[in-house]
Amino acid sequence: MSSVKQRPILGGCFTVEGRLSRFNISCGENQSMLVLGVENVVERGNIVARRWIVGLFGFVLIVGISLCMRPMQAASPLQPVLGVTGLPPLPTELELTPLKVLETGPTDFKLPAATLMAQSGPHQVTVLADPTNYGDRFTTDIYGQAVQNQFIAVLHETVGSAQSAINLFRTPHPRDEDQVSYHTLIGRDGTVYYIVPPEKRAFGAGNSVFNGPNGPETVRTNPDFPPSVNNFAYHVSLETPGDGINNRRHHSGYTQAQYDSLAWLLAQTTIPDSRITTHQAVDRSGTRIDPRSFDSQRFFSLLRHYPTRAGLPG
Ligand SMILES: [Zn+2]
Repeated sequence: MSSVKQRPILGGCFTVEGRLSRFNISCGENQSMLVLGVENVVERGNIVARRWIVGLFGFVLIVGISLCMRPMQAASPLQPVLGVTGLPPLPTELELTPLKVLETGPTDFKLPAATLMAQSGPHQVTVLADPTNYGDRFTTDIYGQAVQNQFIAVLHETVGSAQSAINLFRTPHPRDEDQVSYHTLIGRDGTVYYIVPPEKRAFGAGNSVFNGPNGPETVRTNPDFPPSVNNFAYHVSLETPGDGINNRRHHSGYTQAQYDSLAWLLAQTTIPDSRITTHQAVDRSGTRIDPRSFDSQRFFSLLRHYPTRAGLPG
């Protein structure tokens, strides 16, 4: 009763604020009836208040649970990375112009010594993959968490020929599970093929984790697939020798031209030695063993000859 306000109305009758007005208690009625009516109304008021409190509590609970569960749901669209530094850029058209000069000879092109000197680095070709086979790098994962991994370089081998790999990447693959690519491929003769622009995410290592100096690193950008290193990886593949086009654990290895080109390519990056890894090392599917027969000592000794590597951490 104490919580119910009562006030006189015209004619000396009583009513109670709010919902009680519908009781319409009029003058002259039995006082006990009036009290009973008021008690009933107060009781109903309490029930309504309790229902409101329970409802409000439920609402707060649902909102709280929703907020807690938020990381499990797809967040707002992932934000693409617009540009990168520290990775080899695609060569400009000028750099890719064949450095061949027509000489007086009737049938063939020759490379004058001066032109050869002008070409820095190995022979380079841009053969971009079909856009279905690569995607954006993202600044957030599917949970909406910011991701700021430094780049890693992941080394692979083609198993087939360079040409068959390039043909595969240039073929549109609408289904997510069929999409594959590397950023760069190095042929047996040392030719560097640029396949995916460095600012884009190549699909080189599906289910993968990089166990680096900062602990395990992996990023989930697709709710339908396990997390992977692709969001922060620069994928480079070496063309497999003829005796390696099988699933044996070893083959005759890579050419000197391939090691030279690989060192030249990665010398242009800011990726430290400790973040240069292999597909086998990052793979979590238990099925990848590439690049087989890779001589990492031989590669790193070439890489460290580049002055650009001097200031990088090991
Ligand atoms: Zn691989």
